[in-house]
Amino acid sequence: MRFRLVLSLLAAFLGTALAVSVFLPWFHLPILGLSIPTPAWGKAGVACLAAASTLFLRALGGSALRWLVRPALIPAAYFWWTSLEQMQAWGARSLAPAQLKLATVNQGLGSLGGEPITIYEPALWRGLEPSYGWQVAGAILVLSALFTLFDGPRMPHCGSCNKRGREGDSFCFQCGQAFSEQPVCSNCGQTAIEGDAFCRHCAKPLP
Ligand SMILES: [Zn+2]
Ligand SMILES: [Zn+2]
Repeated sequence: MRFRLVLSLLAAFLGTALAVSVFLPWFHLPILGLSIPTPAWGKAGVACLAAASTLFLRALGGSALRWLVRPALIPAAYFWWTSLEQMQAWGARSLAPAQLKLATVNQGLGSLGGEPITIYEPALWRGLEPSYGWQVAGAILVLSALFTLFDGPRMPHCGSCNKRGREGDSFCFQCGQAFSEQPVCSNCGQTAIEGDAFCRHCAKPLP
C-alpha cells in the first residue's frame, strides 16, 4: 500500500518536473544579433506536456492508469531528440521570409551608408546549441522511462511456498496463504483488522 503511494507521488513529481522543463529556456535563438532564451514551444513542448499530463493522470488515477504513460513518452522522446532540427526549420520557415522582405530596406540603408538589418543568419541558426532546459527535459524523460519499468503489475509473492500470484490476488493459489500482511478472511477475501475474531463481511471465524 505504501509502495503504491510512493509510485503515485513519484509520477506526480516527474509530471511536474517535465511540465516545468518545457518553460525553461531550451535554446538561445540568434535573432537581430541577440541571443534570446526560448522555451520549448513546438512539437517537442506539446509532446512533453502531453507526457506530463499522462504522468499526472497516473498519479491521480492510481496504477490502473499506468498504461497511459508509456505510449506518451515515445513521441516526447522523439521530438525531444529532433527539437534542434525543428528549431532550425522554424527559423528557416518563419524568419528567412522576413529577412527577404527586408532586402529593399537593406539596399536603401546600404546606399545611405547604414548597417543592414539582419533578423535571420542561416550560419548562426545552423550552429544552434540546446541549453540546460533541453538537458533537464531529457533527464526527466529518461527517469520517466525508468519509472514505467518499476511501475509494472505487482505480483504478490507467497512467503510459504514461494509461488508468485497475479496482481490483486489475496491468497496463494498453491497453498492458500494470505498475501496481505493484514489478516484476510479465507471465505470472502475481506481485509480484517488486527484482533478481529470474526469476519466483518461474512462472519466466518478468523484464525
Ligand atoms: Zn503459497
Ligand atoms: Zn469473510
